[in-house]
Amino acid sequence: MKPPERHEPDPVPRDPTSAIAGAASPAWTDVRGWGRLGMRAIETAPQDLIVGSRHAVLTRGLGRSYGDASLPPASRPEVMSTRAADRILAFDPSTGVLRAEAGLSLRSVNAVFMRRGWFPPVTPGTQYVTLGGMVAADVHGKNHHVDGGFGEHVSRVLLRTGDGHVVECSRQSNPSLFAATLGGMGLTGHILEVEFALRPIPSPWIQHETLRIPDLGAFLEQLSASAAHWPFTVGWIDCLKRGAAMGRGVLIRGRFADASRAPRSSPPEISRLRVPFDAPNVVMRDGVMRTLNAVYYATRGLRPAAGIEHPEKFFYPLDALLDWNRLYGRRGFTQYQCVVPRAAGPDGVERMLRVLTDRGGSSFLCVIKDCGAEGLGTLSFPMPGISIAADLPVRPQTQALVDALNETLIALGGRVYLAKDSFTRAEHFRAMEPRLPRFLAERARWDRERRIRSALSVRLMGDPP
Ligand SMILES: Cc1cc2nc3c(=O)[nH]c(=O)nc-3n(C[C@H](O)[C@H](O)[C@H](O)COP(=O)(O)OP(=O)(O)OC[C@H]3O[C@@H](n4cnc5c(N)ncnc54)[C@H](O)[C@@H]3O)c2cc1C
Repeated sequence: MKPPERHEPDPVPRDPTSAIAGAASPAWTDVRGWGRLGMRAIETAPQDLIVGSRHAVLTRGLGRSYGDASLPPASRPEVMSTRAADRILAFDPSTGVLRAEAGLSLRSVNAVFMRRGWFPPVTPGTQYVTLGGMVAADVHGKNHHVDGGFGEHVSRVLLRTGDGHVVECSRQSNPSLFAATLGGMGLTGHILEVEFALRPIPSPWIQHETLRIPDLGAFLEQLSASAAHWPFTVGWIDCLKRGAAMGRGVLIRGRFADASRAPRSSPPEISRLRVPFDAPNVVMRDGVMRTLNAVYYATRGLRPAAGIEHPEKFFYPLDALLDWNRLYGRRGFTQYQCVVPRAAGPDGVERMLRVLTDRGGSSFLCVIKDCGAEGLGTLSFPMPGISIAADLPVRPQTQALVDALNETLIALGGRVYLAKDSFTRAEHFRAMEPRLPRFLAERARWDRERRIRSALSVRLMGDPP
């Protein structure tokens, strides 16, 4: 067994914390979600999570959840950051099973293991997330239709619950607490360690194809046809287009390339640019986004339709521009991500897009994915159907837009993704989430007073402010 490895710190969103990175002692700082909603809070960043988690406050990873999931309640502005606790504790090369502290970032996992022929079974669209954040949101990737969410691959977590116990959770040990923790948005306790199995890959390169699709019906057909042959699929659709071209876009599909087809060299380091300041709010105005959409649609179709691609360009295209959330200005943005159940069919997806376009929910990035079977997590987001995700600049009318989207979604039987949300109302959440009472009952078993709570749990679950 190698000695525990410690890793270079990953970039954190600009405002939070850089002054106190690694500090165990509490300090006031700005904490923000990726959509730039933020507050002043007292933060600790212990290197030893078992000691640091004795104080029952909300845990935070790298702050890549968009809304208020990683923000503490206003009346108790304290958080514990895990980013200084990032050691690899064990790795078994015969099975791929990795055990690590919860603050280890996905970027570090990829940096250490990809060139050795291993890759996480599920990855979200950014590598600047921690393992703890991946468990707490039960993140999904481009392969949900075949592999489910990250939680399906987690064999064990070590958890400090709100009442102070350190417990092992797995499918065998405390199974209901384990299920509530997958997708439980940090509300069942501090995740201290995570164990999951990496997958062997034939090469680190991606064999991909990009198709231009003219309308929504064709898009959904292609997505479903591709699912049978391609483990990774994702679509970008132009949410601003109305009429017959509604839902036109680009479908991207891929798989790890066979060694015989891949370059012999390892993928090179990608140079990254950084947005240096907050853009004026005007940058993301509707006209600008309409033009960006048209340009993107036109140019993606001109690129080669198939080839071998750098894995980071395929999995994490947005990571090429660090701090890109600053393009949305100080008012920030939210992402509306929902899943429309399969039973609602293409009409259901079209109804959601219509609300978005009719109510002026301009979005440059509107991503569509295929979701497979529901996982073990009591509150996990995916269900069989189509996930739609649209970035919305925060404006006075955003609350009314999200309300309208949620009312349509409830009628269709869908649900929103908590890791992206900051505008859903409690009554809408209850209506779309029949699993909530089960989750709250399990949480109460380990934290009757709801000591560990967040701005999100105050907003959606009736926690004390
Ligand atoms: C560009 C971009 C692309 C993304 N793409 C995807 C995607 O494709 N699929 C997807 O599923 N998600 C996606 N996300 C969302 C992201 O994967 C999740 O929000 C993830 O939880 C962020 O991890 P984090 O370490 O930054 O956690 P934070 O944002 O800091 O926290 C998220 C939640 O996890 C809890 N938490 C964090 N660490 C712990 C811990 N150790 N113990 C207990 N609770 C903890 C927090 O309390 C909070 O509720 C994307 C985000 C961005 C910015």
